[in-house]
Amino acid sequence: MSEGALVLVVEDEKELRRFVRAALTAHGYRMIEASSVAEAKMLATSHNPEIVLLDLGLPDGDGLELLAMLREWSRVPVIVLSARGREDDKVLALDAGADDYLTKPFGTNELLARMRVALRHRASDAVGGEEKVLTFGDVSIDRTKRLVARGGQELHLTPIEYRLLVLLAEHAGKVLTHRHILKEVWGPTYASQSHYVRVHMAELRKKIEVDPSRPKLIVTEPGVGYRLREA
Ligand code: CA
Repeated sequence: MSEGALVLVVEDEKELRRFVRAALTAHGYRMIEASSVAEAKMLATSHNPEIVLLDLGLPDGDGLELLAMLREWSRVPVIVLSARGREDDKVLALDAGADDYLTKPFGTNELLARMRVALRHRASDAVGGEEKVLTFGDVSIDRTKRLVARGGQELHLTPIEYRLLVLLAEHAGKVLTHRHILKEVWGPTYASQSHYVRVHMAELRKKIEVDPSRPKLIVTEPGVGYRLREA
């Protein structure tokens, strides 16, 4: 499905573009490149890419500008390329509609894995099918019966824990920001109550992680949010 997808890479660092080009073309992707916001806007409109890799610090402006423009008319997956230590930028970008981020420097495997996740989520959104049973690791969620089990053993989750887990599982492999989780699980008026997420996530981990102090299923993205690791 992702084979041959047209990728728009927006990045002003030549070296990084060269690295990404080598990785993408070796794996059958087609790629168009922009090194500024203006160029990216033109290419995005004229070529309708299937996925966008977006640097935020561009010579003529902020990558978020392009993201805002794209989100007016397109749900194309956008993965932000961000410098280490710029957690606030990542959160801003994710809350503005980016699908994921990669912290520079990143490796080929990480890049390709994140792209596969983003493309797959977009494809399943398009189909609109809601899977009745979600599974990851040895955990399964039966949505019809509202039943969660680990290794065949039923787990007793509170309604909030259940909604947290389903939300994470629906977006397996994708990072979810605190704000996004709060809005989905508690509602829009709770968007700034990050401690709710921390408290209930800790309880949920006690129930589904083998070792809650070393979570393997629900991983923390420091300063950003949480990600359910794909099995
Ligand atoms: Ca840059």
